[in-house]
Amino acid sequence: METAIIEMMSDSQTTLMQTPSVTPEVRDASEPPAGNTEPVFEIGDLDFYYGPFRALRDVNLNIGRRRVTALIGPSGCGKSTFLRCLNRMNDLIPGTRVDGRIAYHGQDLYGPGVDPIEVRRQIGMVFQKPNPFPKSIYDNVAFGPKVNGLKPKSMDALVEESLRRAALWDEVKDKLKQSAFSLSGGQQQRLCIARAIAVRPDVILMDEPCSALDPIATIRIEELMVELKQDYTIVIVTHNMQQAARVSDVTAFFTAEVDDAGHRTGVLVEADATSALFTSPKDQRTDDYITGRFG
Ligand code: ADP
Ligand code: MG
Repeated sequence: METAIIEMMSDSQTTLMQTPSVTPEVRDASEPPAGNTEPVFEIGDLDFYYGPFRALRDVNLNIGRRRVTALIGPSGCGKSTFLRCLNRMNDLIPGTRVDGRIAYHGQDLYGPGVDPIEVRRQIGMVFQKPNPFPKSIYDNVAFGPKVNGLKPKSMDALVEESLRRAALWDEVKDKLKQSAFSLSGGQQQRLCIARAIAVRPDVILMDEPCSALDPIATIRIEELMVELKQDYTIVIVTHNMQQAARVSDVTAFFTAEVDDAGHRTGVLVEADATSALFTSPKDQRTDDYITGRFG
């Protein structure tokens, strides 16, 4: 059964587009970080604006397939903003604008004809605070497939498989009809991961997914991330450098700097294989941050 569902998953991962796609020109500003794989995202010269405020400037980064990429940096440097650019969640905030290029599997993510709803199905998101729906455990997982019009051969099998992959099945299999709110915080977060998995995504974005959890629940989620990267590309924002070091293959360090006009804006300082970034950062700002002299 597991194989069947995995095959269905890979079948559904090709079309974002309603019209033929154009491959955007992406400048590879740097060598791909050591330890990276073929890129799922190629981000070129990305600027992001909230109205007149430029929150990100000139970000160039490739994000490798079936890798955990960690985004670290001081509060307010644009990590969450950047993450939301990757599945067009920022589109939902009025007055925002993206400049530059984000290619997703070679297709322009912001190109004409791209369906943002389909983007968000393929590129799922897990938030800081677990946010299950006020529904049963079962219905939380079945909800996404239903609203996305997925018609699995068996919804029960898809729910079970998603809960198994989120390492939650054994804890909930006898109480699937109970409210999701009856679960602990850590279980609720794994339920949110199961809910994200149930719509057969390709990428899972996680914005500080452990910051509301206790240390034991945090370790479980970290172990889960390492398992999930066998099948998914994961991008995680974390303020916890030990967490980045434990779970990620590649780490990207962002900071906020003051531009020529005197405005604070987020920039990507460097990205590298996690072990290299933490042991021999190339930029002094990274060194200052990871050694605790700043941030
Ligand atoms: P981080 O996740 O690194 O803490 P954010 O991406 O949340 O940083 O924020 C980056 C900058 O963008 C901050 O200056 C923040 O105040 C601003 N910002 C974030 N969200 C919004 C928004 N919805 N409207 C306007 N400014 C925002
Ligand atoms: Mg944030």
